[in-house]
Amino acid sequence: MNVFEAVKQNVTTRQAAELYGITVSRNGMAVCPFHNDKNPSMKLDRRFHCFGCQADGDAVDFVSRLFQLPSKEAAMKLADDLGIAYDNRQKPTVKPHIREPTPEQKYRQEEMHCYKVLCEYFHLLQKWEQQYAPQTPEDDLHPLFVEALQRKTYTEYLLDSFLDGSPEERRELVAQQGKEVMKLEQRIAEWTTAGTLHRGTGQKQPGTDRER
Ligand SMILES: [Zn+2]
Repeated sequence: MNVFEAVKQNVTTRQAAELYGITVSRNGMAVCPFHNDKNPSMKLDRRFHCFGCQADGDAVDFVSRLFQLPSKEAAMKLADDLGIAYDNRQKPTVKPHIREPTPEQKYRQEEMHCYKVLCEYFHLLQKWEQQYAPQTPEDDLHPLFVEALQRKTYTEYLLDSFLDGSPEERRELVAQQGKEVMKLEQRIAEWTTAGTLHRGTGQKQPGTDRER
């Protein structure tokens, strides 16, 4: 087993983060070490994702970024620090050559894309929930506020499934959500444009807002 496989099988990002002194709350949130984070914006489990700066990846990516090490050294550091055994033989060097992405690579891209879109959507929902909350009990509910209430939990559930799911489960998710994600992406693009137009109207921006 090479060092990447060994680490992947044995260490979650959450464990890695805790090993290097990052406090992770019971619900898996932590103050992000990769941007000037005031509230815990990073979710950690098997993988990690920061809702503030969009940092994202697995345990090796995390350590690589934390210690500014190349991936392989990061993986070896993790394995050594946790006493995980791995096969240290050097593979014969194969000359790299440019080729078409394999179906597996194409799928990985699709999966990452799916996840990113859902993250963005989740972000918007969080924002709407605050921004469009009724000010008085007599106010009509804003449709975006209603959407936030209806979809937030489910969207978070999907994101969690991406973070915790096995490769098979994630593949199934991508297959199930692919069409929906494409629609969401279009709508997000429209909303983002509309949001830019309406910015500066003096509306209070929530503290969790990505743009500061
Ligand atoms: Zn961050």
